Amino acid sequence: MSPVDAQVTVIGGGAVGAAATYYLAKAGYTDIQLVEAHHLASATTSQAAGLLGQARTTLDRTRLSMASAQLFRNMERDVGYPSDWRETGSLRIALSDTSVAEIELIASVAAQAGLEFHLVDSAETQRMCPTLEDVSAIRKSLWIPTDGYVQPHTLTQAYAAGARDLGARIITNCRVLDVQLTQGQVTGIVTEDGVTSTEMVVNAAGPWAGALARQSGIELPVVPVLHEYFVTDSVPGWHNGTPCLRIPEIQVYARGEGEGILCGGFEHAGTSLDPTTVDVRTQLPDDPHWDVLGQFATAFARFVPRVSDVGIRTAFRGWPGFTPDGRFLVGPVQGLRGYVMAAGCNAHGVSGSAGLAEHLLDSLSNNPSNYVQTLSPNRFLPRTWDWQDAQRAAQAICENYYPMPGTSIPRISEGGRLAGATYQ
Ligand SMILES: Cc1cc2nc3c(=O)[nH]c(=O)nc-3n(C[C@H](O)[C@H](O)[C@H](O)COP(=O)(O)OP(=O)(O)OC[C@H]3O[C@@H](n4cnc5c(N)ncnc54)[C@H](O)[C@@H]3O)c2cc1C
Repeated sequence: MSPVDAQVTVIGGGAVGAAATYYLAKAGYTDIQLVEAHHLASATTSQAAGLLGQARTTLDRTRLSMASAQLFRNMERDVGYPSDWRETGSLRIALSDTSVAEIELIASVAAQAGLEFHLVDSAETQRMCPTLEDVSAIRKSLWIPTDGYVQPHTLTQAYAAGARDLGARIITNCRVLDVQLTQGQVTGIVTEDGVTSTEMVVNAAGPWAGALARQSGIELPVVPVLHEYFVTDSVPGWHNGTPCLRIPEIQVYARGEGEGILCGGFEHAGTSLDPTTVDVRTQLPDDPHWDVLGQFATAFARFVPRVSDVGIRTAFRGWPGFTPDGRFLVGPVQGLRGYVMAAGCNAHGVSGSAGLAEHLLDSLSNNPSNYVQTLSPNRFLPRTWDWQDAQRAAQAICENYYPMPGTSIPRISEGGRLAGATYQ
């Protein structure tokens, strides 16, 4: 199928573009198409671990994540297709006073939001997750029983199928090369299969969103930052229902994948791409950084020594788009009628896809909420910032993924050992 004339064209068929298409179709935009360069969920989305953590440092973000969990849990009933949601519960593990203070603060936000949580000691942590072999370093943990993970590919297919049922067209294997503009109004798209007219585009091109926007003279800092994890061979006791683990001091997360361990993290010296060198056809590098994955394994082995003894089955990596302030880019672009952004997911675009799509609808209403206005791409327009500064700042958002602003968390030093942490 090739693109046709359509009132609305969503560009990009990852979790975000598919969610946007479903939510727009559900809101009554029936003349809508999604145009994807390859196949659905073929880029960053297919690499994601699918983790959804609802407890956050702000009420808005907590409520947003709770809404995602609610949708994923009821996806088959409400959308007609399953998301493969697994409600395993999660443990956010604190090793230091700083981190205990952090989880207590997050717990207070959870309480305000009405999210069930439990602050538990190390013995209880081990009872919740017996696969943790050594809990002696654990001071306290935040247990969220309704957290879990989705299969990102299944989720994306579910959004797309739901959108198709509502009348949307899903076009794959067709790259959008440019957006046509006439007197400050979107009028069409130029694709590999020809030119079609459209009144509104939603740029959901993931790490390429900045490059696509630049084609239309819109300079937005969407910085691709490398993120990766590995999956081990079978480890006794680990399974798909093992609780999701987050250990901010060592910047590592883990969950069960089949009978193995999926373990990833956020290294303190990250790798990003200069966004000005990425264009709509750029193929992003795909080589694993075994030294970084080795650091995650070494750090996690403090809690699960067996992670060092088993083979690595596979490694996943991708380049999620980060923004310099760590916030989504959602909503209409000033001065270009019909040009709308849905990007800058800062590595939570799978779990945040439902909320981001809701924000998109809100941004298109006559009276967007104050919160959604803070996500507007116009905060970066016209460009007064420097590209290198933006790249550095966006990379730092990834490097400091877990710690709250203003807290200082010990960092992974060489060899994956903690510098400055107090083990008990
Ligand atoms: C290793 C790893 C682990 C992660 N773990 C998690 C996690 O546990 N939880 C979580 O929420 N998030 C996680 N993420 C982040 C998550 O994957 C992203 O935030 C999310 O997938 C972004 O979705 P997207 O739709 O914006 O981008 P993408 O999935 O990259 O989709 C963009 C799509 O646009 C298409 N496209 C681009 N340009 C064009 C064009 N010109 N024309 C047509 N199509 C185009 C691309 O082909 C692509 O399919 C992880 C990421 C990585 C790399």
